[in-house]
Amino acid sequence: MKSAIEVLDAFENIRRAQRAGVYAPHKPLLILLAMARVQRGEPRLVAFMDIDEPLKQLLAEFGPSSAAKSRHYPFWHLATDGSGALWELSGPREVLKRPAGATPSLTELRVHRIRGGFPIDIDDALRRVPGLLQAVASRVLDTYFPLTLQGDIVASLGLDLNGQREVREAMPLTTVDAIGQRRHRNPGFRERVLRAYEYRCCVCGFDLRIGLTPAGLEAAHIQWHHVGGPDIEPNGLSLCSLHHKLFDLGAFTVEPSEHRVVFSQHAISGGRGIAGELQFHGRAIHPPQHADLLPAPEFLAWNLKNVFKAPARQAVPATARAAR
Ligand SMILES: [Zn+2]
Repeated sequence: MKSAIEVLDAFENIRRAQRAGVYAPHKPLLILLAMARVQRGEPRLVAFMDIDEPLKQLLAEFGPSSAAKSRHYPFWHLATDGSGALWELSGPREVLKRPAGATPSLTELRVHRIRGGFPIDIDDALRRVPGLLQAVASRVLDTYFPLTLQGDIVASLGLDLNGQREVREAMPLTTVDAIGQRRHRNPGFRERVLRAYEYRCCVCGFDLRIGLTPAGLEAAHIQWHHVGGPDIEPNGLSLCSLHHKLFDLGAFTVEPSEHRVVFSQHAISGGRGIAGELQFHGRAIHPPQHADLLPAPEFLAWNLKNVFKAPARQAVPATARAAR
């Protein structure tokens, strides 16, 4: 059985492989899904076909538009990350001996009943060391997903993250420090972004204060902070809690020429469509108080590619926009 530190290190290696600016939720969502299975006491290896559906749903909900189509990639490629320290495959030899680049199709994975899971030593440690699974899962969440989405991902998976403290207390201080530092942010970012937008949501204008303190107002990173997005105003938007979450889910983005809000075709808003959320589709954001503070095109392009759930809703003609 591996020690807690060895297991944390093994997972740390996939993080190091992540290139700045490139965001792919596939591997972390597969890992979290596998952890939820371990936590429920299910067998170590699972047939791809048995997790195909939940994986598809997770990627559709928390990934960019086309993520679900390549959902079988991590199941295959995770086995070659870190020389197979993290993931093990089982199935017919003629399939498993393929070169790493020759990813089997979804059908092949199903037909050959390819199974995958954590290697025995890691699986064992995750099941036996109190709090280790929660510590690793929390680290994976922090590495890949913004805080706004973490709670929903955990709930979708049915993961229980309580009990994390025990293992952190048992770990050497250096490791705990490393965990603490992941969340290091420039504390001035929130204040500067909110000030730029004069303390209101740039989408809906929400500006409630409790006394002198803005309430339910947040500074969102356009390019996520944990994938290299800088703490500067042109990478920030002042959003109410609701619009921050919708933005991080890819329900809408902001286009770079006139800074209009563009909703996704995947975002549906029943009877409240016109009066509700979708009323903001096609409207320009409330601009920041200085043109230098406007969202920069490179960060908006990152958001469009990596977070927004394409395709966009139809553009609103300028005449119709003026009339609203
Ligand atoms: Zn808002």
